Amino acid sequence: MEDQENMDGPVVTECERCPELVEARSRIVNGTGPEDAELLIVGEGPGESEDREGEPFVGRSGAELDEKLRDHGIDRETTRITNCVRCRPPENRDPTKEELENCRGYLEREIELVDPELIMTVGKVPSEHLLGRDVAVTKEAGSVEDCRLGGTARRVLISVHPAAMLYDRSQEETFDATVEQAASLIGAGDEDGQSRLGSF
Ligand code: URA
Repeated sequence: MEDQENMDGPVVTECERCPELVEARSRIVNGTGPEDAELLIVGEGPGESEDREGEPFVGRSGAELDEKLRDHGIDRETTRITNCVRCRPPENRDPTKEELENCRGYLEREIELVDPELIMTVGKVPSEHLLGRDVAVTKEAGSVEDCRLGGTARRVLISVHPAAMLYDRSQEETFDATVEQAASLIGAGDEDGQSRLGSF
């Protein structure tokens, strides 16, 4: 209930739960994209560009993500994109367990409202946060797993983070194959737009 008091639909309007993030942020960075998107991409947290522009994945990793989505017929405009934490951690450090928990209710509410066919977690932090277990993200990229979030079963596709490709080009193939799989699962680019998730 307290989460919803800070929210307008999926948008967090105010929050002061994490002192270090409140200090470091310029603004709260909410998810973007349609509230009825079939695909919801969940990243870790805003970086410098996202903090400046107020949108997830608008910096270098965002450019990598957009290109791969385009390559596989997924339009960013029809995709919901959000993060585990909505405020930039100082020096781009990982969010702490406590910060992730503080922000979890907002993410769960966003997932509930968007009700996506598929959630793609990009990177170790969002994959572990939603699946509630250790994830070896490079090895497990491309796995689809069911998990219960806020009492509802959700399909999660594990992916490496697009920034991984910036440091290690060998991760590109892995990321490319996972985005291709996401496109196939939601039926992106198909004339009938039929999701393949029924067969899972
Ligand atoms: N990395 C993330 O995990 N999220 C963003 O919004 C930007 C970079």
